[in-house]
Amino acid sequence: MNIRSFFQILPPRIPCATLASTPVPLPLPERVTLLWPDRSPADLAVRAGDSVKTGQNLARADKDFLVSTVTGGIEEISVFDGPQGCPYAAVAIQVAPKDDFDPSLKAVQDVESASPVSLRNALFEAGFSSLSSLCDNPALWPNVDTLVVSALDADPLGIADQQALRDNPEGIENGIAILQKATEASQIVMAVPEGLADSAGRLPQGAARMVRMPALYPNGLPEILAAKCAGGVLLERKGADITGDTLVIGAEEAAATTCILDGKPLMERTVSISSGNAPEPVNVRVRIGAPVSDILAHLDIQLQPKGKLILNGILRGYACFSDEQPVAADTGSIHVQAPADVFFYQQTACTNCGKCNAICPVDLEVNLLGRYSEYGVFDKCRPLGAENCIECGLCAYVCPARRPLVQFISHAKHAIRTQTMSQISMEEALACNACGPTCPALRLFETGPPEGAVPDKNQE
Ligand code: SF4
Ligand code: SF4
Repeated sequence: MNIRSFFQILPPRIPCATLASTPVPLPLPERVTLLWPDRSPADLAVRAGDSVKTGQNLARADKDFLVSTVTGGIEEISVFDGPQGCPYAAVAIQVAPKDDFDPSLKAVQDVESASPVSLRNALFEAGFSSLSSLCDNPALWPNVDTLVVSALDADPLGIADQQALRDNPEGIENGIAILQKATEASQIVMAVPEGLADSAGRLPQGAARMVRMPALYPNGLPEILAAKCAGGVLLERKGADITGDTLVIGAEEAAATTCILDGKPLMERTVSISSGNAPEPVNVRVRIGAPVSDILAHLDIQLQPKGKLILNGILRGYACFSDEQPVAADTGSIHVQAPADVFFYQQTACTNCGKCNAICPVDLEVNLLGRYSEYGVFDKCRPLGAENCIECGLCAYVCPARRPLVQFISHAKHAIRTQTMSQISMEEALACNACGPTCPALRLFETGPPEGAVPDKNQE
């Protein structure tokens, strides 16, 4: 039976990819670039020409942690402009063929007898940024009511967390023990996709309450998991405050925390790769800091002119300027979009159809937010709750006018965060003079060629 929607505003069913293969291990890269968000080279304790060891903290002692994932020599220290102009301190390292581990990283001998603060310290020193981004002082870690470990990937084309559940249940079990002690969470929930119930059955019963979720987008997003699995609110840093009570960690990252038992840092991660030509994603194991170009070359995937490289989700990720962008600790998926699939922005008006409002999981008035943000009226975005947008991308997915609603609202959030309530239009804010009209990342906002136009040979 066909279920037809009333005014076509039934939620779309966006099925998540399912795991089919084993991960492809990548060789050690020749060069890695470590990115440190919202920091400058002045926050580093190292200089170009210095030698570094795997696990060495490259940050100044009073400036938190940037952990080297390789052994080698520092080639260059620079500033990298990330999405929305977020500045990163970037450390490029020529990689030595063999790891020499920093002796200051001590193995945690016994999780049972370790104190929560000492475990948090060990996780920070090993480079687990998802914890330190909330609070950089292990002694002042916020109260965690519930810890959700999720085997549902955030991206519909992501299969990294599923891989951890299928191949490494023992690592997840040990990771849960570490995280439970470190966060002092009063309850642990393991979220598993319905299709992987068999793999979930291999996890020991008792440590965590198992919640089976349909493998549909956006069920894998942390905000949704916190609400649906635990009835809580995601722990987040908002300016100077930390809000929420539920910490959500992917199964892949939970299993990776066991590296502290060996006195090793977080060095590698699993990344799901998909492309327009081969829609079934595959996982690769890659050293953190390796350029995306290494992965594409190993899998023989060609980036085509006028195609796009999208990191961390086809619905909520961001386009990269270059395939030299390094894999970061939080890079879960990479999608290579073929030119035919790239959508060129056209200035279409909102028709007030209401589909975006109906689909929004946090009940925002998306049509209004889109319009205010488009014209830079950010002071009206805040009372409408723009900061509550979880950037799931569903509004843009259903919008018949194909308006880039996520980009509009994400831009408003950024403006509110940075207190720049000035009347800057979207186009002004996105204008970047570095590459001019050839900028690959901003093609989303280009106007497409008129129908029937003769292609410009110089741009081929
Ligand atoms: S991207 Fe934001 S505004 Fe759009 S549907 Fe998701 S939560 Fe709502
Ligand atoms: S922004 Fe798009 S989906 Fe929302 S009301 Fe306007 S046309 Fe409809």
